[in-house]
Amino acid sequence: SIVVTGATGKLGRHVVEQLLEKVPAEQITAVVRDEAKAADFAARGVKLAVADYNTPETFDGLFAAGDKVLLISGNEFDKGRPAQHQVVIDRAKAAGVALLAYTSASGTLSAALADDHRATEAALTSSGVPYVLLRNGWYHENYTEQLAPVLEHNAVVAAAGEGRVSSASRADYAAAAVAVLTGEGHENKTYELGGDEAWGFAEYAAELSRQTGKEIVYNAVPAEVLVGILTGAGLPEPFAATLAGVDASIEKGELVVDSGDLSRLAGRPTTPFAEAITAALKG
Ligand code: NDP
Repeated sequence: SIVVTGATGKLGRHVVEQLLEKVPAEQITAVVRDEAKAADFAARGVKLAVADYNTPETFDGLFAAGDKVLLISGNEFDKGRPAQHQVVIDRAKAAGVALLAYTSASGTLSAALADDHRATEAALTSSGVPYVLLRNGWYHENYTEQLAPVLEHNAVVAAAGEGRVSSASRADYAAAAVAVLTGEGHENKTYELGGDEAWGFAEYAAELSRQTGKEIVYNAVPAEVLVGILTGAGLPEPFAATLAGVDASIEKGELVVDSGDLSRLAGRPTTPFAEAITAALKG
């Protein structure tokens, strides 16, 4: 079987949808916390397994020898993600899976944001399980799902200076994961995944202006100012600080990926950012 954790998450849904185009539904197992969220998958013949990283025994017996597994990194930043991911690595090893692919973060990312991923990578690469590191770059959706304040104030506000981002859509990263899960010869490879074209925030503002017919500017601010704006808008301080840290990474060029791995694995160019903006503006 091909087994996907985090299957009811935003990336996981794209992965399952794209797997359904390539393999029979009964060969796919979606690992979910809440079966009700996956009723549509079950109706199409996808097998469901209910498990939670925080209850390790729920993963007992879930994997079989020869399975190809995609471990989608969790989103519970305060619950110790490396220990959560270890639960899957241990069970996958015990079962003798053929492949364990993990959605990691760009190798250039130095922010605290990458620590959990580097810890999981170390556990996986030393486990003896055939692995694939899918080092995902930034999602277009990190921006296109946050357009409301930009359109309200006619300004893109960021603490990223002239920094550039090679973002791609979740569907693009899902295509890379599906290629690895359904293809051959990916054992023990590390892929640096990002969009074909990097963009800067001034270009982002210009593209928004072009598409909306409004004048939208890039307001480059220092990190402290961004944190002040975000906490003023109601974000908790630690989250605001994390977002400012992301921008600092962008300014240093840590989110530029020029390996070409993503379009190579997907077998097509990545989704242009402008196209993702158009889709988001249409709602
Ligand atoms: P989502 O938040 O939509 O999905 C996270 C998934 O993890 C969900 O399916 C969730 O289950 C599952 N999950 C969380 N905690 C547990 C747990 N204790 N046990 C079992 N499953 C759990 O994120 P995306 O799909 O958008 O992204 C996937 C991952 O990529 C994120 O979790 C994060 O690690 C990382 N990420 C990457 C970004 C990027 O730009 N590259 C940006 C943000 C995050 P459920 O469906 O039940 O909630």
